[in-house]
Amino acid sequence: MSRPDERPLTRLPTLQPKKSSLELCVFCPKLCRSACPVSNAEPRETLTPWGKMSMAYFVANESVELAPSFANPAWACTGCFGCRESCDHKNDVTGTLFEARSALAASGVAPPAALRVIERFDERSAILATNALDLSSLAEVEESAPTALLIGCAYARHAPDEARDAVRATAKLVSGNVSVVKVCCGAPLLYAGAKKRFIQQGEMLAQAIKHKARLVVLDAGCASTLRVHHAAHGTGMIAPVEHFTELAARELGSLNRVEGLADGPVRYHDPCQLGRGLGVYDPPRDLLSRALGRAPDEFQRTRTDARCSGAGGLLPVTMPEVSRAIAATRVDEHVACGGGTIVTACASSAIKLRNQGASVVDLVTIVARALGV
Ligand code: SF4
Ligand code: SF4
Repeated sequence: MSRPDERPLTRLPTLQPKKSSLELCVFCPKLCRSACPVSNAEPRETLTPWGKMSMAYFVANESVELAPSFANPAWACTGCFGCRESCDHKNDVTGTLFEARSALAASGVAPPAALRVIERFDERSAILATNALDLSSLAEVEESAPTALLIGCAYARHAPDEARDAVRATAKLVSGNVSVVKVCCGAPLLYAGAKKRFIQQGEMLAQAIKHKARLVVLDAGCASTLRVHHAAHGTGMIAPVEHFTELAARELGSLNRVEGLADGPVRYHDPCQLGRGLGVYDPPRDLLSRALGRAPDEFQRTRTDARCSGAGGLLPVTMPEVSRAIAATRVDEHVACGGGTIVTACASSAIKLRNQGASVVDLVTIVARALGV
C-alpha cells in the first residue's frame, strides 16, 4: 500500500483543498492536545484535534471504512479555534472539520443529532421572521432604517430581554432607529454539515441587507459565521459587519458607570467566536471597565488562551454530556478565581454557564444600562 500522503482523497473529494491542513495534523506531534476542551473533558485520543483530523483524513483516502465510528469525531468539536493558538502552523482545524462534516454528511454518515438540526432548521430559525419577540413594537424599530441589527436565533429563543436591550442600545449608539434582520446566518447548517444550504442562507441574508448601510450583529457566533465562515465560502455580506461590542466601544464616551455593578467580582469570559474567532478582546473589556469604573476581573486563562464554554459547534446536541462537563469546568475555574458574576457576550455561553449554577449577565444588558436605555 502507498504512503498515506500519496493516497488521493477519493472517497471525500471535496476535502481535497483541505488535504494539506489534514496532513499537518496527521503527521504532527500534537502540540495542541492540551488546548482542546472536548478531549480535556473526555480524554480519548480520537477526540484530540489530531484524532479528529486524522479520522477525517483516513476516511477520505479510504484507509478506513466509511462508518459512523470514524465519521463522528468530526462533530466532536466546538469550533473554538483553541487548537490553532497552540499550533506552530496555526492550522485551521475548525474550518477543516466543518468541511469534513459536510463531506461526511453528503456521504450519509452524519450523526442523527446533526441530521435533526438540518431537518428542523427552517422551523427553528423562523423565530426571527415571525416576530415572536414582538421587537417591531419597540419604538426604535423601523424597517427602512439604514442600520440593520441581527439578533441571532439563540438570543431570539433564549434571551428575549437581552434582544430588546440590543435594539434600544444599538439605536442609541447610532442615533437613529434600527431595522431588525429576519434571516438567520445559517450557522446551525454549517455546524451540522449542510454546506450548500449554509451558503444559500448566507446569500439570503446578503439579499435581505443589500440596501443597508451596515449590519450590527449581537451574537458572537453569528458575527464569526459571517466574517469568517461565509467569507471563506465567498458569501460575504455587502454591508460592513460588526459585532455589537465593536460599535459600542467606538462610542465609549456615551456610557456611564452602572451603580451597584461593581459589588463583588465581575469576571469577563471571552466567547471563543468573538475572541479567537474575530480577534475582539479589548472592546468588551473597555465597555465593562467603563460601566464598572475599574478593570473587570479575569479568568486564569484569557484572550487567545481563554477556555471554551462548551456551547459551540453543535456540541450541546451531538455530545451533550461532554458539553455540560466543559461548562462545569469553566464554572469551577470561575469559583476558584473568586466567584461573583460572569459577564459574556454570547447567548449560548451565557445559557451553558448559567445551567451550571453561575450568575451570568450579558454584556449587552450592561451596555444598555450604561447608556440609560
Ligand atoms: S492543530 Fe497544529 S498542533 Fe494540533 S495536531 Fe494539528 S498540526 Fe498539530
Ligand atoms: S477547534 Fe476547539 S474543540 Fe475543535 S478541535 Fe480545536 S480545540 Fe478542539
